[in-house]
Amino acid sequence: MADVSDVIVVGGGVVGCAIIWELTSRGYECLLLEKNENLVSEASSGNSGMLHTGFDSSANSLEFQCIKHSFPRMFDLLKGFGLPYEKFWATMVAWTQEQVSKLPIIAEKSRAAGISSASEISLSELYRREPGLSRHAQGALWIPEETVVDPWLTAISLVHDARRKGAVVKTDTVVQNTCKADHNQYVHVMTSRGQFTGRVVINCGGLYGDIVDKLAGLQHFSIVPKKGQYAVYPKTVKHLINSSILPIPTDKGKGEIIFKTVYGNVIIGPTFEEAISKRRPESDSNTIQRLIRYGESCVKGLGGCPIVNTYTGVRPATEIKDYYIDSYPESGWITVGGIRSTGLSGSLGIADKVRKLVLCQHNLEPSRAKGIELNKMAIKFLPPGHAMIDDVIYTVTHPITLCGMDTPMESHL
Ligand SMILES: Cc1cc2nc3c(=O)[nH]c(=O)nc-3n(C[C@H](O)[C@H](O)[C@H](O)COP(=O)(O)OP(=O)(O)OC[C@H]3O[C@@H](n4cnc5c(N)ncnc54)[C@H](O)[C@@H]3O)c2cc1C
Repeated sequence: MADVSDVIVVGGGVVGCAIIWELTSRGYECLLLEKNENLVSEASSGNSGMLHTGFDSSANSLEFQCIKHSFPRMFDLLKGFGLPYEKFWATMVAWTQEQVSKLPIIAEKSRAAGISSASEISLSELYRREPGLSRHAQGALWIPEETVVDPWLTAISLVHDARRKGAVVKTDTVVQNTCKADHNQYVHVMTSRGQFTGRVVINCGGLYGDIVDKLAGLQHFSIVPKKGQYAVYPKTVKHLINSSILPIPTDKGKGEIIFKTVYGNVIIGPTFEEAISKRRPESDSNTIQRLIRYGESCVKGLGGCPIVNTYTGVRPATEIKDYYIDSYPESGWITVGGIRSTGLSGSLGIADKVRKLVLCQHNLEPSRAKGIELNKMAIKFLPPGHAMIDDVIYTVTHPITLCGMDTPMESHL
């Protein structure tokens, strides 16, 4: 059959971008369909831009396995493409004695997982490393390796490289229905821009992953969106912290972090709130004021410094905390859902897992030669809202990148 892709990826967030990159690099003929005008414009454009080590994840979760696999590969990729990153590391600060009692448990969990050597440090060591912190800390944990990246550039570079290697990307294309055809060899995908045919379809629909799954007659999870809000400070206060300042994590997640972006803005957030809609909400001033008060109580120097921006993001959470990745060979379908809080960090591990499912469960061999080399990209920011990578112009959709693009890319490398 003419014009059949090996794989059709639905959704151009960081997960879909990583999967199309991985599969195209391994020699699969890939097509990515994205409903919005721009790639990386939903959950993936409202995150904190951190590569987490997984120090607080359950060692037997799929999320942890994907982060662990992704982490070293991500540095190869950042270096290979020439993308900015900073190993600022992280400091978890206990502000009460009750919180202090949790530090050894968190350190032990991280050691047991074998991914990072988080260790307790004395208060004098804490203030030597973080002199800008308020003096009422009671204890601290030092977490090496936690890293910040440009979250938009990281995701876009993956899809850009996939395109350099032959992948086809169609934006403004809403996937509306699917059906199996030709003795179940192919899946037809009906969209707002016509029909496409592939051997395997991969649902990376993020906040709409449950709805996309229903198009294949599947219903294994529902998206329960969780909102996050942020307050952004100017780069002039970047000297106030040296690492990302984490609170003690709770069941809901990592909590509100005081961190520096790869471009030097200081940010407080994200909150973890119920969201009434999957659409990105406006930030609300009460919450932003609370974040500002929290920041000032931890880092005194932030007092009186006006914020320069706020932004929000919505997490594609489900009823369970872990990722939902499963394969349905009889339907020619793979679901990658519920990638709620760590999708940037785990993206390359997720992509590798999907590659194995395509090969081993769908018995699909690549139809082209591999292209696994990582070539530098020529990146130029075009303020106020675009970037040129090689000779392609993209619309920048992430506030971290938008706040950072007033200085040339070379100065960030
Ligand atoms: C507040 C917040 C903070 C976070 N911080 C971090 C962090 O610091 N580090 C980290 O690793 N992770 C972080 N995350 C998590 C990370 O951002 C997510 O895990 C990740 O963005 C999920 O990516 P995705 O590709 O699954 O979803 P999305 O980015 O939502 O992409 C899904 C895409 O599918 C498209 N789509 C849906 N339905 C259709 C259809 N019918 N047809 C065509 N296209 C369709 C959508 O338009 C969308 O572009 C954070 C998330 C939030 C919200």
